[in-house]
Amino acid sequence: MSFKIRQYLGEQNNATGSTPPFKLEAGQNAAPDDGPLLGALHSPQRLLHKTPNIRADQGLRLFAEAPSAERIYKEQIGDMTVNVRVYSKGGQRQDLIFINLHHSEKTSVQAARRIADEVGGMVVDLVHPGGRLVTFKLHGKSYTFDPNRIFTDAGIEKTLRGYSRSAPPAAKMAVKQFAEALIEKYVRNRRVIMAVHNNSGGFKVDLWDKNGRYEKDTAEIFKGDPKHPHNFFIVTTMEDFNLLKSYGYNVVRQNNEHATDDGSLSIFCGRHNIRYINVEAQHGDELGQKSMLRTMAVNSRSAEDGAPSQLQAGNAAKSQPAKLDAANIRRLVKATESKDARVREDALNALGKIGKNAIPDFMGI
Ligand SMILES: [Zn+2]
Repeated sequence: MSFKIRQYLGEQNNATGSTPPFKLEAGQNAAPDDGPLLGALHSPQRLLHKTPNIRADQGLRLFAEAPSAERIYKEQIGDMTVNVRVYSKGGQRQDLIFINLHHSEKTSVQAARRIADEVGGMVVDLVHPGGRLVTFKLHGKSYTFDPNRIFTDAGIEKTLRGYSRSAPPAAKMAVKQFAEALIEKYVRNRRVIMAVHNNSGGFKVDLWDKNGRYEKDTAEIFKGDPKHPHNFFIVTTMEDFNLLKSYGYNVVRQNNEHATDDGSLSIFCGRHNIRYINVEAQHGDELGQKSMLRTMAVNSRSAEDGAPSQLQAGNAAKSQPAKLDAANIRRLVKATESKDARVREDALNALGKIGKNAIPDFMGI
């Protein structure tokens, strides 16, 4: 077993003599979510901080002892500096990346960070004075765009014209450079991209169904959770569609060939055969979004040591060991939200055991 794996399993780092930043015992309660993190978010510099805000349950706490880190990278668009905030946990599951492009959708960032704390991974979000939209000045003129509409040339043109009336070449170029920086740093060569969004009002899964606004963009739809129409996945692969369907979620498989080119990240990933999962949840429903993210995280495979992604493995169901049986995990994940503390604890313990057994598999050893 490699050193990295031993670290995963929470053993003391004897090689360097360092001690884990903190240790939780089984059954011990962790500090409430977000305490140390929120304070740390206000520092503009690189931060290395300890986050005891981990679920204190058996298996999921395996990752609690890895340090978390946050870095801010600056991207310039005209006169506007957009801070790209990168939160990473453990440094092990760098293939698992959560991207939030809409600054106003804060629930999704919190949910993604908590899941990264549980299983490892990286959460990227954009910080700027706008809400959903980014505004910048170039040669004395002001322009606005939607940062999830900039990943194709047609999308850049459309979003600039829509919000700024004009789209001169210099403004388009400034936006395109920003989009390319995001693609190169956070999207290209990743095995799986999880985009996280929040919504409200009329924006729900039904828009992708028959007679909905996005019907044309849909290859397949499954509404397994009609009581929560704001919580749904949009995926680009059949494997992920079938997986999430088996869990009883609302899920849309994008028609990668015919979907309208609105310049969104889903269109870019669909065109470039990048496994992409959009996790949409209602504003404020952190619990619901965490459950959705956890399901994907538990089922995704690591790029570490060259382990094949689910996509490359072909039939996901066949490649999963029996202990990762989807129906069993689905039942357990649902039980983690039970009102009964005992039921929650039992489910977390059981999930923990699955996670522990599955780690060598995740890690490709
Ligand atoms: Zn959004």
